[in-house]
Amino acid sequence: AKDLVARFLDAHPDGGWLNPSLTADLLGCYSLPLTTSVWAPDEHGMVLAARSMRQLGHEGKIALKAYWPGQVHKSDVGAVYLGPGDDASVRSTFRDFENRFGERLAGVVVQPMAAPGTELFAGIVQDQVFGPLTVFGLGGTATDLLDDRTARLTPLTENDLHTMTTELRCAPLLFGYHGHPAVDLTAVQDLLARLSRLADDVPQLAEADLNPVIATPDALLCVDARVRLE
Ligand code: ADP
Ligand code: MG
Repeated sequence: AKDLVARFLDAHPDGGWLNPSLTADLLGCYSLPLTTSVWAPDEHGMVLAARSMRQLGHEGKIALKAYWPGQVHKSDVGAVYLGPGDDASVRSTFRDFENRFGERLAGVVVQPMAAPGTELFAGIVQDQVFGPLTVFGLGGTATDLLDDRTARLTPLTENDLHTMTTELRCAPLLFGYHGHPAVDLTAVQDLLARLSRLADDVPQLAEADLNPVIATPDALLCVDARVRLE
């Protein structure tokens, strides 16, 4: 992780957002549960990637995400396609991305569709005085709307991990609520511990966002991650 960060900052002395593949490499150093992603630079690459990803996807579906450096909310601008992975749908999505984003479009991230679950958010922010904070809450596109989150200074203690996952207003969703299945709480705590460890090891980590981490009763899968170094 330290090597990767040093190499990136050599090439980008002012820092910046890691591209999807470096993001996966850095988070992979801490075994954070990222979904499989394939980078496709053009339409042909996208069709080929979609053919292999749809076999892994829930109900044969895939996610296609238009990528350019520095993007924020992809779904707000129509940069996320979720649906069948047949060649025709993939080609028409590529043309749609090209029309919409033109020159800005650097390539497309192709992923298998994850099985549905509870969407969580986990991240790192830097406090000017106290250093890295690990943030946790309800995720997905409604994160800002619901604003149900909690934060602790790193390194996280066992007690932090327990209270972070029990004090949210939405905590009943984690324990099982009205037909909504419980999530694997130990896996959630493990993810938060690994993320805080990354923030401790890498002081150049300015910001990290894992949103959503899709939680089911027996697994966690992050389908969207962003990391900024400084
Ligand atoms: P952004 O947060 O930039 O709008 P995301 O990649 O998080 O873009 O996608 C938006 C939403 O689409 C997610 O919150 C999630 O509900 C859904 N989504 C994205 N990728 C997948 C995937 N691989 N499997 C299932 N759902 C996904
Ligand atoms: Mg997201």
